[in-house]
Amino acid sequence: MEEAIKKIEAAVDKYRSGIIDVAKFMWDNPETGFREWRATRYLEEKYEALGYKLVKAENIPGFYTVIDTGRPGPEILVLGELDALACPGHFHADPTTGAAHACGHNAQSAALYGIAAALTEEGMLDGLSGRIRLCAVPAEETGELAFREELKKNGIISYFSGKREFMHRGYFDGVDMAMLVHTLPVDYYSVDGRAVGLVAKRATFKGVSAHAGANPHEGRNALYAATQGLSAINAIRETFRDDDHIRVHPIITEGGGAVNTIPDRVTLESYVRGLTIEAIADANRRVNRALAGAAVSLGVQLEISDVAGSAPMIDNPELAKVAGEAIHKLLPDAEYHFFDKIVTGSTDMGDVSCIMPTVHAYIPGVAGKGHGNDYRIVDHDIACLMSAKWQLAMLRILLSNGAGRAYSILEGFTPRFSSVSEFLDTKSDMSGEGDRIFYADNGDICVKL
Ligand SMILES: [Zn+2]
Ligand SMILES: [Zn+2]
Repeated sequence: MEEAIKKIEAAVDKYRSGIIDVAKFMWDNPETGFREWRATRYLEEKYEALGYKLVKAENIPGFYTVIDTGRPGPEILVLGELDALACPGHFHADPTTGAAHACGHNAQSAALYGIAAALTEEGMLDGLSGRIRLCAVPAEETGELAFREELKKNGIISYFSGKREFMHRGYFDGVDMAMLVHTLPVDYYSVDGRAVGLVAKRATFKGVSAHAGANPHEGRNALYAATQGLSAINAIRETFRDDDHIRVHPIITEGGGAVNTIPDRVTLESYVRGLTIEAIADANRRVNRALAGAAVSLGVQLEISDVAGSAPMIDNPELAKVAGEAIHKLLPDAEYHFFDKIVTGSTDMGDVSCIMPTVHAYIPGVAGKGHGNDYRIVDHDIACLMSAKWQLAMLRILLSNGAGRAYSILEGFTPRFSSVSEFLDTKSDMSGEGDRIFYADNGDICVKL
């Protein structure tokens, strides 16, 4: 194994400047989810220059390629996320779009390219069994809901997150387990354990406009309904059980037109996060009921669009063990933790973790606050190159000796869903859109949650 690790280090180091170029190109060209065309074109060219044949998503950004060792065995998916996020206050934000790599996904793409490049070096597949699927995947961050709704209406996407869309398209069919290494502004290597999932909500209160000074009695104030809705959500927070880790954090995205007019249209957006799919669904119903009650109190209409977001993430403990072993082969003194804790952020790696053993590991090499205006790579040799080496070392542990380690992990794994389609059906159950209040002529009011 020592020999193999030395080979991994040399193979990645050989491509150092090309790997760092990827991180810098994406840093200078940040693009939000499903808009990562510059990154995709740039990377496609670089992968093809290495000799890879790519399966391209074509009408959305992203692609994958499969590397066959020539010996039978499981297939391992290695992911690199492409998207930046809207962070207009970031010191290196795109001045036009406000997008910035404030979550370090450019480092992931650089690492994935490093893995691809290193695997073209002689002897890198020696002693391995099975296949490796490298995938540049778009749209991890859940945002710009209106843009994604438009893509969905136009039949371009069926799901709002890149990994779920790729699952739906069958791009992960035939894969047995998955890994991803994300940057984190700390000085240790780690795997968290669990992360919450979410429903993304857009709620529009639709009232009646009227002159705010002369005839307010002729109006129905959508803004007051929305603020009542926010109060009602706050009033039900104590009904959330601590163990479910529910978080609801609404904002007003559309708050009224003119100050002399009773607002007739006010929109809230929110996530409802939680630790299990069942807990999210239950909290989401309560939140919708709170919003509907507020709408009824002012006699306005309420339209809700719910979209199931990332599923709760569960890191496979055995893969987390492999991550620890791999980093110690490269850096014997590295601080590595499998925290086995719950974090209240979300990732669509959670979706992948519903159907196969998955690990979402963290690597240092960045500074600033995650999603903050100062997030940046401070050490490319760690954030990009060590990330590539770490993942190659994990692949080596998993797929050497007839892929014995990978097989033993698969044997001990029980998926939360037996198939991608069963999983996606459940996600659809948590989604819904349309008007929620029915005002009958006789004064009866019916609420549909
Ligand atoms: Zn992020
Ligand atoms: Zn991220």
